Amino acid sequence: MPFGNTHNKMKMNYSAEQEFPDLSQHNNHMAKVLTPEMYAQLRDKETPSGFTLDDTIQTGVDNPGHPFIMTVGCVAGDEETYEVFRDLMDPIIEDRHGGYKPDDKHKTDLDPENLQGGDDLDPNYVLSSRVRTGRSIRGFCLPPHCSRGERRAIEDLAIQSMTPLPPIHLQRPLLVCACDDFAGLDALDGDLKGRYYALKNMTEEEQQQLIDDHFLFDKPVSPLLLASGMARDWPDGRGIWHNDNKTFLVWVNEEDHLRVISMQKGGNMREVFTRFCTGLTKIESLFKERSHEFMWNEHLGYVLTCPSNLGTGLRAGVHVKLPNLSKNELFGEVLKRLRLQKRGTGGVDTAAVGGVFDISNADRLGFSEVELVQMVVDGVNLLVDMEKRLEADEAIDDLMPEQK
Ligand code: ADP
Ligand code: MG
Repeated sequence: MPFGNTHNKMKMNYSAEQEFPDLSQHNNHMAKVLTPEMYAQLRDKETPSGFTLDDTIQTGVDNPGHPFIMTVGCVAGDEETYEVFRDLMDPIIEDRHGGYKPDDKHKTDLDPENLQGGDDLDPNYVLSSRVRTGRSIRGFCLPPHCSRGERRAIEDLAIQSMTPLPPIHLQRPLLVCACDDFAGLDALDGDLKGRYYALKNMTEEEQQQLIDDHFLFDKPVSPLLLASGMARDWPDGRGIWHNDNKTFLVWVNEEDHLRVISMQKGGNMREVFTRFCTGLTKIESLFKERSHEFMWNEHLGYVLTCPSNLGTGLRAGVHVKLPNLSKNELFGEVLKRLRLQKRGTGGVDTAAVGGVFDISNADRLGFSEVELVQMVVDGVNLLVDMEKRLEADEAIDDLMPEQK
């Protein structure tokens, strides 16, 4: 049951105290930061597109906590959300991103040559490697707030931007295409060549197969997604673009306008990251050719729906077998020191089964893309070394890393 937004001007007939959400059972970043005074000060503000404080925090009000991760508890509805509600957002960002201050500047490095190693994570343990990020197209509301028309326009743009422009004398205003299945995405060529599949044109079975194979986002079952308004109108305007061998994928209109993903079986994270950088850079220039830029600023880096994804938006991760280490009491501390995060292999809302985990970088902001992938490569190598020791009934204390 997709929730709507909470526009209701009648609420101003009640005092801030009467409207303040009950956060007494909550454990998320928003609940830690939002005070009745701050609520009173911000509740009548809205962004130019009409996104309000209540819209921003609703997901954190409805989801007091999460069994596996510390959630942020708020979302952005447009690029301006981070500005208009900065009194709330800045401390949340600082809390979530390791003390990142309002005047800190973000750095970008999408040159895979700067990565050390990463081509030989042990395939006996590392089952698959993946790097993803999100990108938002400036001038459109983000998924928690976008209208149906905006969402469809994003879908059209995503398709058309990956299609080569016709010769200049044949150019005319791009028609809003019906954007059903579209086979002409050959602006991405070579091993990136592929096509777009609209969700509404797929059968249940086709969707489920792609989900089970870890290629497609889950159905909107997560309460985090539902309560933020991101599941409205599902599956309208949503889809997936992928190359022929499903190693480069673009999700359209899930949690972000675009999610760009590179993945493959085994432990060659270097190859995955190299394809990620090439494809992402190409997509950015294709959008630019059509006069569309991504939301970005020096402080926040790439602006995305969830404040946890600001900066690089990058999550580099592996599915890795750690049946012994994960039972060891040091596991949590090792991950913390390596600045890594664990999830189940079915996505953020799943628990690990059979000792196989999704291990990825915990940070997104304040580190460059290369630095984050490096943390994952080095960290996973160490985790695998520890797993091998424990397998042989040997101690791991001397392998304990320093806090990164
Ligand atoms: P995201 O950060 O991309 O939103 P989720 O935790 O929501 O990640 O998972 C999305 C999908 O990606 C899931 O199907 C998950 O199994 C898959 N996935 C994530 N990491 C990997 C990986 N290293 N190898 C294979 N599939 C992965
Ligand atoms: Mg997700």
